Amino acid sequence: MREALLIIDFQNDFVAGGALPVPHGDEILDRVNELIDSNRFDLVIATRDWHPADHHSFKDQGGPWPPHCIQDSEGAELHPGVHTDKIDVVVDAGFRAGLDGYSGFEKTRLESVLREHDIDRVTVVGLATDYCVRHTALDALRQGFDVVLDTEGIRGIDVEPGDSQRALEELAGAGATVR
Ligand SMILES: [Zn+2]
Repeated sequence: MREALLIIDFQNDFVAGGALPVPHGDEILDRVNELIDSNRFDLVIATRDWHPADHHSFKDQGGPWPPHCIQDSEGAELHPGVHTDKIDVVVDAGFRAGLDGYSGFEKTRLESVLREHDIDRVTVVGLATDYCVRHTALDALRQGFDVVLDTEGIRGIDVEPGDSQRALEELAGAGATVR
């Protein structure tokens, strides 16, 4: 069994002080680093939300979100506390105006990187449970990977109360291990 750690969008704009902070998003830092440092994983991958300034998810373009994670901005950088020296691959998503990028697999090299390294199982941590974590984990399941959600290492936005809980139930129902 070859395993990858998938750290989803743990970026400045998604934590306190950022453009679109996920409540308590900072709290996952220790767990993320603990997993990175565990040496359990054959591959450590970080995804980044990575948008052009006119991304269609932004309010000024008619979308639901304030502008966030604009390419090459400080807000798009990975959380400075993450042990980035042990991250093997960074995958950018949502990198064109019309690409949602909620899933780290959408038009990216994520699947091919996992296949190249013969990965069987991905453990998913990061932000946000009810958006990018959810979509990325669902795509990983569809592509036949074993998927583990590490609940200590994820936090949700909960635009509607209960969104994160519903996302975890959906993922468990689709075959993910939630622990
Ligand atoms: Zn985004």
